[in-house]
Amino acid sequence: MREYPHECCGLLIGSSEGDRKTVTDLRVAENQRHDSLRNRYLIDAGFIFRIESDLRGSGKAILGFFHSHPDAPARPSVYDQEHAWPWYSYLIVSVKQGKPADTTVWQLKQDRSGFTEEAFEVSTVEVS
Ligand SMILES: [Zn+2]
Repeated sequence: MREYPHECCGLLIGSSEGDRKTVTDLRVAENQRHDSLRNRYLIDAGFIFRIESDLRGSGKAILGFFHSHPDAPARPSVYDQEHAWPWYSYLIVSVKQGKPADTTVWQLKQDRSGFTEEAFEVSTVEVS
């Protein structure tokens, strides 16, 4: 909502066991795409390396990425497919007229031919 009508982006951080990922932390990243912010996002590689080194030894890791689709469906675009990596989860929030709408999570197929939608659940988080 804060970045609308531009795309927001960031990292999903937590732990994984087998196929199950548990995201406990979100790190908002600055969108490095300044040319066409409305439908593209780019996260600085240095930002990702810094977070990875901060997480070393913590038992947590980068599990995936989140970004928004302003006034567009919560489905991966061709650009998303071209820039995705296997294994990571890609959470997409559709933001319509400035308000969050659908949220979906995707994983790139190993052969990069498309995405598989992942099931997810949101637990209540207590903020102290
Ligand atoms: Zn996208």
